[in-house]
Amino acid sequence: MKSVPCEIIAQQLIQFESITPFEAGCFQYIESLLTPSGFKCQVIQIEDVGNFYATYSQTIPPDKHIVFVGHVDVVPAINASSWTYPPFAGEIHNDKLYGRGACDMKGAIAAFVSAVQEFIEDIEQEQPFTHQISILLTSDEEGDAINGIQKMIPWLQEQNQKFDLCIVGEPTNPEILGQMIKIGRRGSVSFKLKIIGIAGHIAYPEKALNPLPAMTQCLYELNHLILDNGNEYFQPSNLEISSVDTNNPTGNIIPSTCEAKFNIRFNTEHTAEKLVDVIQKTIRRSIEQTSQEYQWELTHSVSAHPFIIADNPYLQTFANIVQKVTHLTSQLSTSGGTSDARFMHHLCPTLEFGLISDQAHKTDEYLFIRELNKLKEIYKNFLNEFFKG
Ligand SMILES: [Zn+2]
Repeated sequence: MKSVPCEIIAQQLIQFESITPFEAGCFQYIESLLTPSGFKCQVIQIEDVGNFYATYSQTIPPDKHIVFVGHVDVVPAINASSWTYPPFAGEIHNDKLYGRGACDMKGAIAAFVSAVQEFIEDIEQEQPFTHQISILLTSDEEGDAINGIQKMIPWLQEQNQKFDLCIVGEPTNPEILGQMIKIGRRGSVSFKLKIIGIAGHIAYPEKALNPLPAMTQCLYELNHLILDNGNEYFQPSNLEISSVDTNNPTGNIIPSTCEAKFNIRFNTEHTAEKLVDVIQKTIRRSIEQTSQEYQWELTHSVSAHPFIIADNPYLQTFANIVQKVTHLTSQLSTSGGTSDARFMHHLCPTLEFGLISDQAHKTDEYLFIRELNKLKEIYKNFLNEFFKG
């Protein structure tokens, strides 16, 4: 079976309208590409989300096992009529392939599918292959990300799938291929603070207990917390307030409650548990400063823990290959939001490298076909190096 050019794979994938959380036929198409190369493919349905696991191995247990991870779901193409080319047509003009998901991240999926096809074609004549290559895809990354990779982690553990390295194909390069490899991510914890007072007429504040002075005191203190100064690989941890609300439609009522939401993106100087403790103490101290008897409730949810793979030996090999193919020295970064790397790093060292992040989620999203082919070269060269020796 001849490998399919990666721009054709990317174009086909864009034509499936896989708006999150639907895969819309992407998995069947990818299975049709991987099965002739000897992959065993399965779809694992978790509620309304399809997850896809394809694996190639001839020896159990394998000497080394690499897994490529991606998502076929895309964000909707809002204002589709304002796109220069229809968002799900996958039109090619002047070396650019246009369409929703081109960069985030059907392009990278096309690149690693094509890379493994070519790699297997090259090794077929050689000695028995004693390693394992897997591809793990979800259709729940852009949405809630509850039934996607997060729930595939225990499934993979049950199947006794152990990995030496994971490469996530999220778009990591700000503008040009080769600029940035993600070698870790910050953690994320979200908080809801509710302060309970007593409602009353705004003209008679002595008969009420306004929760807003307590809330403003709390938010002032929270906003001025210096959590750390960052470290070699991470920017300082940051608390950001996203909402303050009393649900008060009128101007002459003192509200009974006030709720605020805030989130902390945090680095490896903290654990989520330690941060929750810091936040509780800050709120307690702030409320005490008001000398009033407020009730308050604080809830939190942790959506990611921070991780870093700076010392992993494969990282330097990967960076060298990126340098050789793109002639750029990549910045090793932990910046940006969360991705499925936050789940995969629980199983194995995880690095992220894909196409261009500035194009993600934009109107007229596109990729450069020459960069897509370079990305495939990087993945393929890395497979050669990874399984060497
Ligand atoms: Zn993405």
